[in-house]
Amino acid sequence: MDNRPLSIIHWPQAILHLDGDSFFASVEKALNPALKDKPVVTGQERGIASSMSYEAKKLGITRGMPIAKIKQEYPECIVVAGNYEAYTMFAGKIFNIMRRYTPAVEEYSIDEAFADITGLRKMHNCSYKEIAIKMQKDIMDELNISVSVGVSLSKTLAKLCSNFRKPFGITCVDGTNIHILLQKTPIEKVWGIGKNTAAFLRKYDCNTAYDFIKKDHIFVNRYLDKKEREIYNELKGEYLYKIKTDKKSTYQSISKAKTFTPTKDKEAILSQLYKNIEDACAKSRKYNLVATKFTIVTKTQTFFTNGQKVTLSRPTASASELYKIIEPLLDSLIIPNIIYRQTACVLSDLTADNNSQLSLFEDNLKIAKIEHLNKTVDSLNKKFGYNTIHLARSLKARSLYTRELAIPKLNIAV
Ligand SMILES: [Mg+2]
Repeated sequence: MDNRPLSIIHWPQAILHLDGDSFFASVEKALNPALKDKPVVTGQERGIASSMSYEAKKLGITRGMPIAKIKQEYPECIVVAGNYEAYTMFAGKIFNIMRRYTPAVEEYSIDEAFADITGLRKMHNCSYKEIAIKMQKDIMDELNISVSVGVSLSKTLAKLCSNFRKPFGITCVDGTNIHILLQKTPIEKVWGIGKNTAAFLRKYDCNTAYDFIKKDHIFVNRYLDKKEREIYNELKGEYLYKIKTDKKSTYQSISKAKTFTPTKDKEAILSQLYKNIEDACAKSRKYNLVATKFTIVTKTQTFFTNGQKVTLSRPTASASELYKIIEPLLDSLIIPNIIYRQTACVLSDLTADNNSQLSLFEDNLKIAKIEHLNKTVDSLNKKFGYNTIHLARSLKARSLYTRELAIPKLNIAV
C-alpha cells in the first residue's frame, strides 16, 4: 500500500461536519430524563421505527422495522410518537451553538450541518480539533444532545470523518493524513457514490476511497461524469462544494428537458425521461430541497404535448421513489407507434428537506392527486404562460439538433 501523504499542507482549509447521533431518540431523552439509558424508538405515529437510541440499536432494532413487531419482540423498548416541532427546535439550537464559533454554518438537514472554520484558530486560541470538541461539549452541556463531529479539507471528507466514530465522536483528518482515512473507507461509504457507481468502481478495482483517488486522469475523464469527478477531487482534499450559508434557496422549481432524435422506441424515450428525473432530483438534493408536485411531459414529433401533474403524499427528491409512483402513468404518456421528440420533468412546490431521516422510507409515498395535461401547444401556452411559447419556438429553431433545453418557469403558472 502506498503510504505517501496526498498533501503536504495540513490545513489549506478546515471544513467541519456535525451529525446528531440517533437524533430524534436523543431529543426524546433530552426532554424526558426518565428515558435515560433506556431503549427508545420513535415513529409510533407512522407504524415504523424512524429513529432508535443506541440501546435500542444494540437490541437489533433497525430503521423501518414495524412498531408492532418491536412491541411484541422487544417489550422493554419504549416507543414514542415523533415530535417534529421539538426536533426542529433542538436543531435550531444546535445550529446557533455552532454559529458561536463561525458565522459560516450551512444547515444541511434536521440533524446535520457543515461549517467553515478556516482561519479561526487564532480567534479561538485553539486547534481545529479543539474547536470541534468545544462545539460538541457545548451541545452536550446545554442541550443534553450527543453529536459526532468531523473536520477535514472538504465537505466530502468531513462527512466521512463525522461518520467514522459514532456516537459522540470527534475525527479530525488533515491533509497529511487523508490517505489513511481513505484507505479505511469502503467505496460505497463515500457521500454521493450510489450503489451503481460503487458497483462500477469495484469492477475497476476501486474497493476503497483510496483506490478510487489513485485512478489516473485518463480513467477519470473517460468514465466519470461531472459529479463523480467532483467527488474524486473532494476526496483528494480539494474544496469544491462550498458552504452555503443562506437559509433558503431561491429555487421555486427545478426543470429538466431534453430533445432527442425523434423516435417511437418506448425504451429510448423512457430512458430520456428517467435521465431528466434523475438530474432534477440530484439538483434538488444538492440544495437540500424536496418537491411535493411533480410534472412529466412528453412531446411528439408534431409538437403535441401530453403531460401529467402529480401531487405527492409527502415531499421527496428521490428518483427511485418517483419512478415507482409514475409507472402507471407511462402508458398514457408514451403511446405506441407515435414518434416523440422531447421529454421533460418539473419538480415544484419545493421546500427545505427537514425530515431527511423520514424520506428514507417509501411506504407512505403515493400519488395524492393526478391532473392530466393533455394539450396542444396553443392551449399549453395559455395554461403555462409565455415561457412555453418560447420553448416551442426554441424547439422549432433547434429541431435539427439534439440538445438540452431549459424550461425555467413552466411550473410557476401551473
Ligand atoms: Mg444523524
